[in-house]
Amino acid sequence: MPPTSSLFRPFFTQNPRLLRQPFTSSPRRAEVMTTQVAFAAAAVGIGAYVYMRSGATTAPGTSATGTSSDTKPYFTGFGFRTLKLHSTELVNHNTKKLRFELPDPSQPVGLSLSSALLTVSFPPSNGRWTPVLRPYTPTNALDEPGYVELMVKLYPNGKQSGYLHSLKPGDTMTFLPIPEYAWKPNKHEHVALIAGGAGITPMYQLIQGILANPEDKTRITLVWGVNGDQDIFLKKEFSELQSKHPGRFRAEYVVSQPEAGSTYRKGYVDGKVLEELGLGATQEKNQNTKVMVCGPPAMEKALKGGKGPFAKKTGVLHELGYKSDQIYSF
Ligand SMILES: Cc1cc2nc3c(=O)[nH]c(=O)nc-3n(C[C@H](O)[C@H](O)[C@H](O)COP(=O)(O)OP(=O)(O)OC[C@H]3O[C@@H](n4cnc5c(N)ncnc54)[C@H](O)[C@@H]3O)c2cc1C
Repeated sequence: MPPTSSLFRPFFTQNPRLLRQPFTSSPRRAEVMTTQVAFAAAAVGIGAYVYMRSGATTAPGTSATGTSSDTKPYFTGFGFRTLKLHSTELVNHNTKKLRFELPDPSQPVGLSLSSALLTVSFPPSNGRWTPVLRPYTPTNALDEPGYVELMVKLYPNGKQSGYLHSLKPGDTMTFLPIPEYAWKPNKHEHVALIAGGAGITPMYQLIQGILANPEDKTRITLVWGVNGDQDIFLKKEFSELQSKHPGRFRAEYVVSQPEAGSTYRKGYVDGKVLEELGLGATQEKNQNTKVMVCGPPAMEKALKGGKGPFAKKTGVLHELGYKSDQIYSF
């Protein structure tokens, strides 16, 4: 791991005034101390975050299909990178696609399947010095060179989602790569991906990576629960993938408050719905199924029980017969 000072270089590069702070000048001293404390807190927070998620690590520098590239990938090793926002696009009423550009448009991104990016910002809404750290999942194909794309849902009073939505082309954002579930082709016969709301993004990354690899024969069932019809995006992409990979991939949508005349299945992603979709663990074909979950905390708790080794494993998935080692939560 590089020294902490180099980890924070992008912030100092963006804020040259911080580098010029005279440590002995008394009027500024308290402010500098506060800055040091803020950065130390950020370092501890980031270290803890990465450590907690490190069970899923794989070497960065491998592409979505797990092969190494001749050109040096952009996200190599542990360290912050600051990228410029290239363009934005609203994909539904509250979700924005943000496309960030690498300095070299032909450079491989170098994120492994699957990966997230920890975003680091100091938004004015959070006071002057306290960093906001939140993970987001790249949604463009991981082997697309030159760009990293995020789809970010705006939460009311959301610190980071609000900040990301406020960015304009040319603005910058600082990222730290975080390996997530280390995907191994054909390790599982079938994956059931259960997403709630913005939890669709890690699933989309996985789906693209699996289906882009001709060696990988894993079957995929996606179940996406949303509040209303207007919350659904990526439908065209999923329909195309379903047509291109019949028998390998299907997407099912569950809407809790559908609009009049909606064609979507109504309800919540509960045991009954999962059984109806053929995802009960006792069903013969689901014995070698890996279930992956990403959604709001209440949904995740209902599906797989509390978090941590001592929490009760009493969720819907356990009731359906899935064992703890069959379930992964992003
Ligand atoms: C591995 C991982 C990958 C993720 N990838 C993405 C992604 O690609 N796109 C994306 O939009 N988000 C993603 N998230 C969620 C993201 O990291 C933030 O949690 C989210 O954007 C809210 O942050 P905020 O600072 O805007 O909100 P905060 O300031 O933290 O909270 C503002 C309000 O929103 C509520 N809130 C916050 N998060 C949620 C939630 N998940 N469900 C319901 N209410 C919530 C809070 O309770 C609060 O009332 C991911 C999370 C994880 C763990």
